[in-house]
Amino acid sequence: MSLALVLNSGSSSIKFQVVNPKNHATDAPLVSGLVEQIGEPTGSITLKYDGEKYVLKAPIPDHSAGLDLAFKLMDEHGCGIAQLDIVAVGHRVVHGGILFSQPQVITDEILGMVKDLIPLAPLHNPANIDGIEVAMKLLPDVPHIAVFDTGFYHSMPPAAALYAINKETAAEHGVRRYGFHGTSHEYVSQHVPALLGKDPDEVNQITLHLGNGASATAVRGGKAVDTSMGMTPLAGLVMGTRSGDIDPGIVFHLHRSAGMSIDEIDKLLNRDSGVKGISGVNDFRELGRLIEDEDPDAWLAYSIYIHQLRRYIGSYMIALGRVDAITFTAGVGENDAMVRADALANLGMYGIKIDPERNAIRASEAREISTDDSTVKVFVIPTNEELAIARYAVSLAGVE
Ligand code: ADP
Repeated sequence: MSLALVLNSGSSSIKFQVVNPKNHATDAPLVSGLVEQIGEPTGSITLKYDGEKYVLKAPIPDHSAGLDLAFKLMDEHGCGIAQLDIVAVGHRVVHGGILFSQPQVITDEILGMVKDLIPLAPLHNPANIDGIEVAMKLLPDVPHIAVFDTGFYHSMPPAAALYAINKETAAEHGVRRYGFHGTSHEYVSQHVPALLGKDPDEVNQITLHLGNGASATAVRGGKAVDTSMGMTPLAGLVMGTRSGDIDPGIVFHLHRSAGMSIDEIDKLLNRDSGVKGISGVNDFRELGRLIEDEDPDAWLAYSIYIHQLRRYIGSYMIALGRVDAITFTAGVGENDAMVRADALANLGMYGIKIDPERNAIRASEAREISTDDSTVKVFVIPTNEELAIARYAVSLAGVE
């Protein structure tokens, strides 16, 4: 069985999975795990295999040590890399800039280009590069493939991709909308034409990836034409801890009048804002419980979240002109029926009608939640970015 190792390396963590690319979205990966607290005094590695969970606590000075220990833990528990038929390694790379619209087999040249993009994603790309370099050393005999979060958005027209700021400054510093979560939006949007029984070229759709991070994308004929995330993943929808769109003048105000440093404002908007910044919690399960207890801040956070989500849905309906389907995905989108119902409430005059009974059904399969007479079909489609990356990896490695 040809398998792919999928790596998602963050600044202090590495998520890893061994995936059969022939899996369905809801199949569990063969092996999954998480290396955490890299660079801290005590790190931890969690491994899930064959229904068991193993945890190793140890200092993990860097990504190299982290992946090494993860591989050793896999060896100890009967799922060592050498015993598995790993034919390719897929790496999630956050920023591909304007260079990469498609996944790439990683060569020295490609890695150099990803390094050149560090100024655009100073927090994300260095960690992704660390992960790639370490994995290439540990697994030198299989192809390594980079899959970019931004790749799906190369098709956006200039009106959606460019900001109305000084053209020369923007060009000099790469300031434009790149979009993120592209692997997920592409993956779920590809399922929709078959559900509608239509040719992919004819389908106009909106995909809503609502997880801890959240984004909306307008897709015409399989190509992204607009998205809510911007030059960075801070823009757009209200998220678990990120503000989403705000007046950019707020940054100047907090710096000049409130005396906050740029790093403090960065942390405020990325980590201490969004749903958490208003309600104190970022998990929608907790938020739901607080709303049931009539906690006013939880309700306020939820209301702002829904208001912003509806703004984007409305603007993409206009951008697309005709919408065939709206799809919810990721942790909140797949599980939170109240969010789905409120996001699309009272839109009957636009042909959007949710069926409350269908919406309430909990299932892990792709499903329709609109009424039979809804002209816009509404779906819940589980996303699986690791599976998408595994498929790209195996396909580019030429070993499908
Ligand atoms: P990410 O990959 O962005 O970290 P996920 O797509 O895994 O996020 O989504 C995680 C979020 O999904 C959690 O923070 C939580 O808010 C939400 N979530 C998960 N399960 C449920 C559920 N049963 N009901 C409501 N929200 C849920």
